[in-house]
Amino acid sequence: MTLAYEVFVNDPPARNQGLLPNGEPKGGSPVASTLIYGSRDAVLTDPGFTTDQAHALGDWVAGKDRRVTDIFITHGHGDHWFAAGLLAERFGARVVATAGTIAKMHANVAARPILWDKTYRGIPPSPVTAVTVPGNRFSLEGHDLVIVDVGHADTDDNSVLHIPDLRLVVAGDVIYNGAHLYLAESLIAGGLGPWRGAIDRVEALGPRHIVAGHQNRRLDDDAGRTIAETRRHLDDADDLLMTENTAVDFFNAKIRKYPNHLARTVLWASASALYGVRERPGEDVGRILVDAWL
Ligand SMILES: [Zn+2]
Repeated sequence: MTLAYEVFVNDPPARNQGLLPNGEPKGGSPVASTLIYGSRDAVLTDPGFTTDQAHALGDWVAGKDRRVTDIFITHGHGDHWFAAGLLAERFGARVVATAGTIAKMHANVAARPILWDKTYRGIPPSPVTAVTVPGNRFSLEGHDLVIVDVGHADTDDNSVLHIPDLRLVVAGDVIYNGAHLYLAESLIAGGLGPWRGAIDRVEALGPRHIVAGHQNRRLDDDAGRTIAETRRHLDDADDLLMTENTAVDFFNAKIRKYPNHLARTVLWASASALYGVRERPGEDVGRILVDAWL
């Protein structure tokens, strides 16, 4: 039996408060979940973060009539997994992640009161139940699913799920597709170089298809295009950081260049942090990163 996959994209939940510099209400980024399935079993990735998202995704998964054996989490950012417990319970599935991601999951839970619960309503209890798997690989009806550690991308310890038999990489936040990138954590990684290295590692897997963790659901999942576009966004960001003097200028310039990209709130959080460290020298970078979302 060959495998197949389908993608479900949850819209971002509403924000509690706040406007962007162009007057739009703050929001978030769509989160993509992938269901990889055979004739009986399935594996789900990155199940989103609010109770509403868990219900929408869970109903879609239930309609596929497969036994969900595992839920794989690509990286620690809460928007990709705070709802994992609800889905794991609903389907009786195991939650799987790398050791690095599990450590970041704990850090994201610790940041809930100062960050996540301040900005979004409806996040369920989020105990970290994820486990590692031996050799970073598991299987689905005899087909290999390989977890590849790619290091820092939009946060530390990103991983991707490689399904060689589908020539598919579920890339989490290493590759984006039609949505603004979260660039702020480059401040603690010494720039965007490590992210470029992570993209190289994804490309080296030779995928034909890439599921980006944040995407416009109307776009295709062509690996070559999404890799090239993500690289171009990183180059653009480095260029704009040289030419633009303020966070608002950076924000506006990026929107002029990518008027159809989703998740302008993520763009603004990135710009606020990247310029915040220039404007608030000596201040704690973690504080600046959190403030950029509020
Ligand atoms: Zn993300």
